[in-house]
Amino acid sequence: MGTIKLERPRKMRDLVNQTQSNGKLPGPTPRAICVYCGSGKGLDPAYAKSAQVLGKSMAQAGVCLVYGGGSNGLMGEVARAVLKHGGHVTGIMPENISSIEPPLREVQELIFTKSLHERKMLMFERSDAFVALPGGLGTLEELVEQLTWAQLRHHEKPVVIANIAGYWNPLLALFRAMEGETFIRAGLEARFLLVEKAFEILPVISRSWDPTPDHADTSLF
Ligand code: AMP
Repeated sequence: MGTIKLERPRKMRDLVNQTQSNGKLPGPTPRAICVYCGSGKGLDPAYAKSAQVLGKSMAQAGVCLVYGGGSNGLMGEVARAVLKHGGHVTGIMPENISSIEPPLREVQELIFTKSLHERKMLMFERSDAFVALPGGLGTLEELVEQLTWAQLRHHEKPVVIANIAGYWNPLLALFRAMEGETFIRAGLEARFLLVEKAFEILPVISRSWDPTPDHADTSLF
């Protein structure tokens, strides 16, 4: 498993306890985190609960939410939770899908872009880290894009797969199969942080995020 760069923090319980007892994260506090998640809620209530837990923890830590701007599904859950607990939300949505995905108008900042590509680029630029909660094709596309950009050294921002109730297990199995076939290999590693619970997300990002200016090679894009 050398080329799938998983971080499984052995002392995560300690980190989380530390966060809860002194109100601070174990490392630097990111300014903004991009959350990718479903425009639906899925069937397991644990998904919506996790979106709420994440949103609340971001608001309490003073971390801005960057997301796709929608009001439905897990997207709406995480954004409403941030707002409910006094946090800041930036929604970024292509203007031509606002009729399909109604925007959440209560957010502090709602940006309409010309295209899906512009949306994703802006979400990338505005964020210090990325989290994938459960979701569908859109979430998968956005997650995999960040993993490929990290693989190609376009950025070193943390990417967290929140494997709530084992939702992403089939994807993780596919990554292992890719590694077994050497499509994922040394020099083309899959780099991500894997957590099972929403309360683990902020501490693990805080511990891995490097706040120094990004040395990403943007010449590729
Ligand atoms: P889903 O996980 O399929 O419910 O989609 C989650 C979000 O991803 C929705 O806001 C979609 O509009 C968005 N989305 C879907 N495909 C893309 C794409 N190619 N680029 C950017 N956003 C997308």
